[in-house]
Amino acid sequence: MAPGAVQQGAQQALPHASSVAGTAPGAPPAAATSARGGASNRIDPAQIPRATKKAAQGFASYLTRSASGVYNPPAAASDFVVQDVGNCSPRYMRPTLNQWPDRLELVSMCSMPMGLMVQPMASPAAGEEGLAVVDMGQAGPLRCVRCKAYVNPYFRFFEQGRRYTCNFCGAQGDVPTQYACALGADGRRLDAAERPELCRGSVDFVAPEAYMVRPPMPPVFFFLLDASHQSVSSGAFENACRSIKQLLGEIPQPDRARVGFATYDRAIHFFSLKAGQTQPSMLVVPDIKQVYAPCPQYLLGKLEDCREMLEELLDSLPAMHKVAPPAEAALGSAVQAAFEALKPTGGRLFVLASAMPSVGLGVLKNRAVNVAADTAHKLAAPADVTYFRMGQACAEYQVCVDLYLTPQSYMDVASLLPLARETGGGVQLYSPYNPALDSPKLFNDLRWALVRPTALEGVLRVRTSSGLTVSDHYGHFCQRSATDLDLPQMDCDKALYVSIKHEERLPKDSEAAFQCALLYTTIEGQRRIRVHTLSLPVTEVLGNLYRGADLEAQTAFLMRDAARGTGSSAFKLLRERTFERTTNILFAYRKFCASSSSSGQLILPEALKLSPLYTLGLMKSPGLVGSDAKPDERSAWLARALTAGADRVAPMVYPCMYALQTVGPGAEASGADPAAALPAPSTLSSEHMLPTGVFLVED
Ligand SMILES: [Zn+2]
Repeated sequence: MAPGAVQQGAQQALPHASSVAGTAPGAPPAAATSARGGASNRIDPAQIPRATKKAAQGFASYLTRSASGVYNPPAAASDFVVQDVGNCSPRYMRPTLNQWPDRLELVSMCSMPMGLMVQPMASPAAGEEGLAVVDMGQAGPLRCVRCKAYVNPYFRFFEQGRRYTCNFCGAQGDVPTQYACALGADGRRLDAAERPELCRGSVDFVAPEAYMVRPPMPPVFFFLLDASHQSVSSGAFENACRSIKQLLGEIPQPDRARVGFATYDRAIHFFSLKAGQTQPSMLVVPDIKQVYAPCPQYLLGKLEDCREMLEELLDSLPAMHKVAPPAEAALGSAVQAAFEALKPTGGRLFVLASAMPSVGLGVLKNRAVNVAADTAHKLAAPADVTYFRMGQACAEYQVCVDLYLTPQSYMDVASLLPLARETGGGVQLYSPYNPALDSPKLFNDLRWALVRPTALEGVLRVRTSSGLTVSDHYGHFCQRSATDLDLPQMDCDKALYVSIKHEERLPKDSEAAFQCALLYTTIEGQRRIRVHTLSLPVTEVLGNLYRGADLEAQTAFLMRDAARGTGSSAFKLLRERTFERTTNILFAYRKFCASSSSSGQLILPEALKLSPLYTLGLMKSPGLVGSDAKPDERSAWLARALTAGADRVAPMVYPCMYALQTVGPGAEASGADPAAALPAPSTLSSEHMLPTGVFLVED
């Protein structure tokens, strides 16, 4: 712990955090010295800043820019409505600092992370405008001649609108004649307000043919089901068949969507869905060492042509597999075979597995027996590189793997995880699978995965203005070059964290610009480029960094940094590093921005006043708590930690707890929104739990 950060045991007094935040650096914060006198040397829990209903309510509306500057966005988990007036919504890009440090030394002083949460497909909230779709024809959008940044509201036009200056690199270029426009007295293009790309921070460009290496892919859904003994006996197989049958009607674009289906135990069973057949014919692949996809042209059927056939198949499968299902599960071979079937088109592979792969490719062993405490963290790393390589191969062919795991005991999720991580997929774990409890959840998770807004065959790149550079990416993707990320799919819930670093000092009074460009295919089959642009004021004042700090984005970094370290570092070390990162930030605030306050006071910057609480929550999460968490539970948490959007960060580290016994009778009968009937969240502390109470924890 950094000396003096929070002095346990000393008399503590909490300042009104807002008065601290409004304090100029170096000046004394207007700290309340209300505490309870010198009689007690314990921190009064009632005075510790906590996430409350009031704090989580946020603003009703948020303008992404105003004439007087850029304000901190509302908390990501709160309800708010964004109006895009030149910067993208914080739902798409949320920086860790809303005022950007001009030089590296400032960053080193405060120890705060520099980066962005990027969630390019995030869904707008009710009341918010969707993205404008701009079609510039075969010419495509205007891009900087040097750095290739896309035209945005911060491009400057001159020479009667015939030339432009790029806000990312300062290069000047010619505006194509068909895109040129005269300038008004204020130097802005006369058409700026009518062109979304010149007045909005986010826009979807229709991609011209030059952005396509092949025709846009159709939506493809391939379901791979574990039919081994463990899956059948637990009820998971029957639940999966029933759920998929019910969901066939919800698959988007039934006239274009293609579906495929296979089961596996000690062998792999494909089903041919050739148009004109009355029922699917089973094609067995018995050789699980040299796998292949038999008759690949018939393995994917057009949904509207084969829906009835598939429904009948899904009805009959549970009975077919009920009698003496083999105990062996060729999971690795089955994934490889399904990948072979998907190679020509790409697509989404839904793997519903219960048993650890025991035969064929990628066999795994139970590593979770007799593990010494000092090596327990190694269980969070994959056993070998088989599934990592498989994931990379899938990503190359635009195949995304989503894992729905329904084991009864340890199945080494950590080793399977790279399949999802390298392909932009996700992991859902239901362990131990209990049909009564888990089948509705499995159904809902599958349904949401099928219907939620999703980008296909994506390539993502984040650009920064001169003097800054992207140093790292955290998330689920495949990275083959230093700058571009391959995303076979990117859904509305998944986010990346992008670390930024200085290359040189930024000019005074300049702005730091960031642009995320995602080239993707819509589910309707149109190739587009989604561009989000953010321009932030540059500051040379340390206090401004604390004022502009974003708690959720910074916590997301802590979470992802810890998640990435799991497997290679001991849990204790990870917890210490996480703790130290937070205390360094708070200590620097104390030292440089609130140095004249009494040494016994706990001084927290307003924007980060919940950071100690969230850090402690993070240290107790399944990813960091160590041997108290089951290895598979930990791996599933790590997948969530690496992909969660900013709005999921706070609930993940500090769940909401409601004391239901305080809800009065009749609250439900009144017909009101059940969520509105919930009481204010309680403090997550044993002191606030009663043995006779009923509590709901939402995480
Ligand atoms: Zn440029």
